[in-house]
Formats: sequence, C-alpha cells, structure tokens
Amino acid sequence: MYAVRIHEHGGPEVLRYEEVPTPTPGEGQALVRLVACGVNFIDIYQRKGLYRIELPSALGQEGAGVVEAVGPGVTEVKPGDRVAYSNVLGSYAEYVVVPAHRLVPIPEGVTYQQAAAAMLQGMTAHYLVTTTYPLKPGDTCLVHAAAGGVGLLLIQMAKRRGATVIGTVSTEEKAQLAREAGADHVILYTQQDFEAEVLRITEGRKLQVVYDSVGKDTFDKSLNCLALRGMLVLYGQSSGPVPPLDPQVLAQKGSLFLTRPVLWHYTTTREELLWRAGDVLGWVRTGELKLRIDRALPLSQAADAHRALEGRQTTGKVLLLTGFEG
Ligand code: NDP
Repeated sequence: MYAVRIHEHGGPEVLRYEEVPTPTPGEGQALVRLVACGVNFIDIYQRKGLYRIELPSALGQEGAGVVEAVGPGVTEVKPGDRVAYSNVLGSYAEYVVVPAHRLVPIPEGVTYQQAAAAMLQGMTAHYLVTTTYPLKPGDTCLVHAAAGGVGLLLIQMAKRRGATVIGTVSTEEKAQLAREAGADHVILYTQQDFEAEVLRITEGRKLQVVYDSVGKDTFDKSLNCLALRGMLVLYGQSSGPVPPLDPQVLAQKGSLFLTRPVLWHYTTTREELLWRAGDVLGWVRTGELKLRIDRALPLSQAADAHRALEGRQTTGKVLLLTGFEG
C-alpha cells in the first residue's frame, strides 16, 4: 500500500509518498481501508518536531473508510462497516490499523469525506463549548482563527448554545465566512487591535471565555479580554508556543482561569467518544452543522496540503483522498 511518511522532521518536503507493507490487525484492532484522511494543524507540529513522534512514521490523526478485517477479540465493528476515527497516528495511508474501540459508525447519509472532515475538529469544538467552558445564553466568547477548520465549527456550536460570538480572522474573505457561520462580530486581527475591539463591542464588560488556538501572537491580549474569573482556553499554537507564565499574572488580571486542553483527554472512554462523535456526525447528517471542505487533494499531494494550511491559505477542512470509493 501507499502511505505518506516522514523519516526526519522538517518542512513539507520531508513528506514522502512511498510504498510500505499493508499492516495486519492484532488483538482488539481493525484494519480500515481509508477513503478520506483529515489534515490537521497537529500534523504540522509533528512534521516539524514541535511534538515528537517516533520515526519513520506515517502522519495523520483521522480518517474515514471501511473495515476490511478485524483481529481477535473485536466486538465493536465487523468487516464492511463504514467507520471514522481520530487521535490515532498514521492516517495518511491507504490502510490503517486502529484500536477497534476508537472507531465510530458513520451514520447513513453522511459521506466518508464529511466524516473525515468532522471527526477531529468537530469533536474539538464540541468538548470546548460543552465541557471545557460550558457556554450558556448570556455568555460572550472570543474565537480566534474563526474561519479555520475548528473555528467555523466552534462558531456554529457556540451559537447552538446561545452565546454571543466574536471571531478574529486575517482577511475580509475569511471574515465573510465567519459571519456566514454565525459570528455576531468579526475582527480583522491583522489590521485591528482585537483587545480594543473586544472592549468596544462588549462596552467594557469583556468576555467569559476566549478560545485561543493561535498562541504566541494572541495569548497576552487574550488574557486582557477576560472579565473577572473568565477562562482562557489555550487549545493550540498556530503562531508558535506561548512562553512560560507567572501564575500571579492570573491573579492580577482578575482571578482568571487558564487551561490547555487536548481532545484525547475529552474522549478517554468509549462512552464519551460515542457521545461526542454521535452529536457531531448526527448534526452533519441533519444539516444542523455545516462543513466547509476547503480542498480535497490526492494522498500523494500531502505536502501541498501542508503548505496551504501552514500558509494560512485554507478556510475550513483540508482532506487527502486515497482514491478508494468505499
Ligand atoms: P486552522 O484551519 O484553524 O488553521 C490555522 C489558522 O490559524 C490559520 O488559517 C490562521 O487563520 C491562524 N493563524 C494565526 N497565526 C498563524 C500563523 N502564524 N501561522 C499559521 N496560521 C496562523 O487549523 P485547524 O483547524 O487544524 O487547527 C486550529 C488550531 O486548533 C491549531 O492550533 C490546532 O493545533 C488546534 N487544535 C487543538 C486541538 C486540541 O484538542 N487541543 C484539536 C484540534 C485542533 P487566520 O489567517 O484567520 O489568522
């Protein structure tokens, strides 16, 4: 089979499309023939070595396809099932072995591309608004990179919960997409001071929560946007890692809360995984959650997908396709 692997950390050029042996499922595992794989910012961190992985390795953390075979002891799925998953390394490949308890069924009416587009970013938006800071009517939240993969889903889910949403984006085109997703206010943070804009929009009341995936470039001002006892949810670092912080700063700025969550810790049990994935894929099926697939490239063009995502050229989801029909 073919897979996209890295043998060393570096730029997009280290991604190699190469032939490797098709894996065999062991105890509790399923072999999945992938139709679509999702590209996520974490793939870039892993490619660069910001997050270390054992090399050589295929990249990719999510996909959707058909169960081809199962190993001993598997009860969750059977050959022929349409399945999707996230948080298992190695999805830039035609076939992948996944622990069966990480697989979720794709509902009828949802395509493989939609499932691969929704799993990781959708469940992230889900845990951020339901569990990390459970949004409620009357809350105002700030969503950075609002036209990104997670961003567009986060806006829609925050609106579902009745919150007022302020989004930040880098271009007018992205601002339009954030508005269409439901953002009440959009700030062009490359041209406007977002802290001053938040103060203006909220008439000085500030925010209950900031969902910050940009990190280095936004962190300090994100803290300044919070009302007393507000929460900064730092869930990514697209602009680079945030330097160490003196906890006293949280006291000075209003007894603030700071958390650095990851999806893995919000889908630890099968029950929690099925709940989040079931909600997300269910809303995709009914049309309540709109997915925007920015581009779907052949697996062999993974490097181009990385260049586009890293270069802030994408809005919504980037997919890689294996060429299998399902
Ligand atoms: P996005 O589609 O959101 O792409 C990243 C966006 O970040 C860009 O489009 C850009 O939007 C913005 N950005 C701001 N500064 C930079 C910069 N210097 N370089 C590149 N991009 C920049 O990606 P994803 O939806 O895949 O991921 C969004 C974030 O969420 C990432 O930080 C990722 O690590 C994090 N994440 C965290 C998870 C968790 O559980 N903790 C799970 C999933 C994702 P603009 O041009 O508008 O500024």
